[in-house]
Amino acid sequence: MSVLRFCPRCALELTTRPDGGRDRLACPDENCGFVHFGDFSIGCAGVVMREGRALLVQRGWQPFAGSWQLPGGYVEHDEAIAEAVEREVLEEAGIEARVSDVIGFRHSLGGSIGGPSTNLYVVFRLDTEDGREPSFDNDEITGAGFYSLAEMAQMEAVQGLSRWAIEKALATGRGSGLQPESGASSALSRGRPGWRLFGLQPPGGL
Ligand SMILES: [Zn+2]
Repeated sequence: MSVLRFCPRCALELTTRPDGGRDRLACPDENCGFVHFGDFSIGCAGVVMREGRALLVQRGWQPFAGSWQLPGGYVEHDEAIAEAVEREVLEEAGIEARVSDVIGFRHSLGGSIGGPSTNLYVVFRLDTEDGREPSFDNDEITGAGFYSLAEMAQMEAVQGLSRWAIEKALATGRGSGLQPESGASSALSRGRPGWRLFGLQPPGGL
């Protein structure tokens, strides 16, 4: 296990100091001010339904090569999460879709420093009017298609988290989850570049 030893901003050797009730790796140079709060990542995935079937892709790469899952991936640090999931659905399955609402999320705690990062994985429902057949690169992704729950039951290695999200999507109405704020409700984020609020909306919208 590797441990962060040097400041990523100024390359001084890190020390520990109490911050927020626990000891943290920190830069000894107060002008630098770097504090290591941990290793975090954000993931996203999309449930895209067509005539009662959900879009799945087959992993070509390890880990879990050959298994089927929702299209998705990591959110870049300078990328809006809704754009990230739309990008991943297009990149992995060749389907144009737009975010509707949030179905759920998983919070998984990573190991200590140097281990897997603590991850927030947000699953969205997306709308599509794209009638094309799914397409894929046959490298990172080796299959893509729309499948019913009954069909998934006959497939090997459908990721449990993907099935969980598809079942949630089938059991709830479009827009019943957290939706990107727009119009009058977005006043709080107006003038704050990089902000995007997601909130519950009353039935029928605002
Ligand atoms: Zn520093």
